[in-house]
Amino acid sequence: ADAVEAYSAANPESQALHERASQVMPGGNTRTVLYYTPFPLTMVSGSGCRLEDADGHTYVDFLGEFTAGLYGHSDPLIAEAIAKAVANGVNLGSHGPQEAAFAEAIKDRFPSMELLRFTNSGTEANMLALALAKHATGRGKVMVFEGAYHGGTLTFPASEVPVNVPHEYVFSRFNEIEATRQAIRETGSDLACVIVEPMMGSGGCIPGDPAFLQMLREETEAAGALLVFDEVMTSRLSPGGLQSELGIRPDLTTLGKYIGGGMSFGAFGGRAEVMSNFDPSKTGSLPHAGTFNNNVLTMAAGLAGLTKRLTPAAVHDLNARGDSLRRRINAVLAGAGAGIIVTGIGSLMNIHPMRTEPKRPADLAGADQRMRDLIFFDLLEDGFYTARRGLLALSLPIGDAECDALVAAVARRAPRWAA
Ligand code: PLP
Repeated sequence: ADAVEAYSAANPESQALHERASQVMPGGNTRTVLYYTPFPLTMVSGSGCRLEDADGHTYVDFLGEFTAGLYGHSDPLIAEAIAKAVANGVNLGSHGPQEAAFAEAIKDRFPSMELLRFTNSGTEANMLALALAKHATGRGKVMVFEGAYHGGTLTFPASEVPVNVPHEYVFSRFNEIEATRQAIRETGSDLACVIVEPMMGSGGCIPGDPAFLQMLREETEAAGALLVFDEVMTSRLSPGGLQSELGIRPDLTTLGKYIGGGMSFGAFGGRAEVMSNFDPSKTGSLPHAGTFNNNVLTMAAGLAGLTKRLTPAAVHDLNARGDSLRRRINAVLAGAGAGIIVTGIGSLMNIHPMRTEPKRPADLAGADQRMRDLIFFDLLEDGFYTARRGLLALSLPIGDAECDALVAAVARRAPRWAA
């Protein structure tokens, strides 16, 4: 109660904005992930890796818009591309000259995406990939993993979620090789596809065991089903996505988040023969509409980001920085005897208040939720913005100084978290 009072006293303007928002939006909210009690902060501006809230506090942005903010706030090259697009006329009701260039840049990075299409979000990209897999195979069942998140209408925590797209789901458990192998074989010729994140991102930054993912590749192929890699979050973990790092070629890949340069974005693509089902010049093709699929702001921002800013060297540097940060934080936490562990790969990580590294979503049941909250609010007080569930996603403007400051803050707080 004291902590809530102190938080409210420190953030009167955010509280007032939340109360006003609650009059017109349920819970004052239009993105459930951003909601937390007693009320979420309202950020009013950002620059590089800094944020300012409605009460004038500043933060280092270690959340990075849940991974969509890889370029930081208002990167000048991307801002220039957007300004040019605006000056040239917003959304002309036609195919645009930058679409193919952007698609080419994506295919260059992710060669398994032989043909691709754009959407407005990662959720839509996954919905279309699943519909395509069912159409292309003539089968009905979709295998998903308990605890996975593939978007607002494709979310699979333990409890049933009524807003999901009503596919015939077959559930299996992430990183459990034999059980999943058996489930794929049992579903056999009814299985259209398996959709998996090669590292569970929202699910807690739990890397897929390479042997598990390799098994999925082999078993889906044997079953005549498609393997869909959701790389909406993980595509940033190597220049060619986690698939290139693993040496696994999925049939379909979905992308989202940062690749749109900070604008609304999603894409799905894969084997040309499968993707050709969307070719409208063919009779019986699948429809794929969406007024803003090719909006000029996303096309311009995404193309500028991918070709001018996010070079393969920049991807390597960002992930090396993340690996180093995670190692340092884990060393400090272990040294203090705090039962807290940070998981992840490269620039994506999640703080978990538990003593042993979670290998499966079910392991997270052992996490201490009150400690999760304490860590979040302590870091906020120290000027570090993260997700309440413990996610950190580095952006390009984050440098050594910001990482050193975060490690120092964790070192200062760790004895309290250990107590
Ligand atoms: N897939 C994964 C792995 C995600 O993490 C997310 C978003 O967090 C999505 C899909 C959905 O993307 P969007 O929020 O753009 O709909």
